[in-house]
Amino acid sequence: MNQSVLAIHGGCGVLAREDLSDAEWREARQHLTEALRAGWAVLTRGGRAVDAVEAAVVVMEDSPHFNAGHGAALNHDGLHELDASIMDGATLAAGAIVAAQRIRNPVKAARAILESGTLAMLTGPSADLYAEAHGVELVDQSYFTTERRRDALASMIRRGQDGTLASASEAEKHGTVGAVALDRDGHLAAATSTGGYTNKPAGRVGDSPIIGAGTYARDGVCAVSGTGQGEYFIRHVLGHEIASRIAYLGESLATATDTVLADLAPYRIGAGLVSVDATGHVAAPFNTGGMFRGWVMANGDASVGIHAEIEPVGNFGS
Ligand code: ASP
Repeated sequence: MNQSVLAIHGGCGVLAREDLSDAEWREARQHLTEALRAGWAVLTRGGRAVDAVEAAVVVMEDSPHFNAGHGAALNHDGLHELDASIMDGATLAAGAIVAAQRIRNPVKAARAILESGTLAMLTGPSADLYAEAHGVELVDQSYFTTERRRDALASMIRRGQDGTLASASEAEKHGTVGAVALDRDGHLAAATSTGGYTNKPAGRVGDSPIIGAGTYARDGVCAVSGTGQGEYFIRHVLGHEIASRIAYLGESLATATDTVLADLAPYRIGAGLVSVDATGHVAAPFNTGGMFRGWVMANGDASVGIHAEIEPVGNFGS
């Protein structure tokens, strides 16, 4: 029997229910569903988990609804600096790019680095050049910019000046996309891609490209992709911490993920994650008002959600 499982998130930086229009949710829901379909197509033809997570993340990077690729957040200088990573739990091979400025699909560049067999991470202009040399499309900065992100930057700068940062919405502040998968051969993989925090200082790096923090996968244990204020995910080495709790304490995925999120509670930050373990359990906890998320279980049943409710979106076959 096909034991494949796929789970995705589009970040826990989401609008409150009352501020999200039906039209916006319909389109975001459709893009989440397309991301699940893209990843699931890889898994049902017997493909690898690492290919499935890349395929799913590419779809969300192309959507303006999530903070990655097209629609990524702007930094303080009004620039997009993009972070992404991908990890193959079968080999522990990983690739990451940090503060790239021109890569249309940052996860593809991270994958090219993973495939290099020698590198793990490249930064800034070097990441852009490496991507180009490996056939990954480059675009102008304007490709990434949307009106919503421009408004969010203006709003965060204004809030900084008038002392109302604490009342900024999660959607104004941040977001990320990510995917985790278990394939037919029992291999695990994870990928994460983000524009980071709105109004972040130039050069700021979050958890998303840090292997072990925002992204982690290890066969036999679990795969994790996080979303939330990355500085704290880095402190707690969140993805690796979840894997360690499962591997060394024998905790279930649900207990391990709930425990590490509870460890972040004192910081009062928005945080969430998606994860899958070696036997196909999925956990997708978050502590904000919502997290764009979805999954396809082994029987092909697919679901997506943003706030508390989860909506079935059909059976994708197995
Ligand atoms: N983790 C991302 C970062 O810190 C942001 C997010 O997921 O909301 O860059």
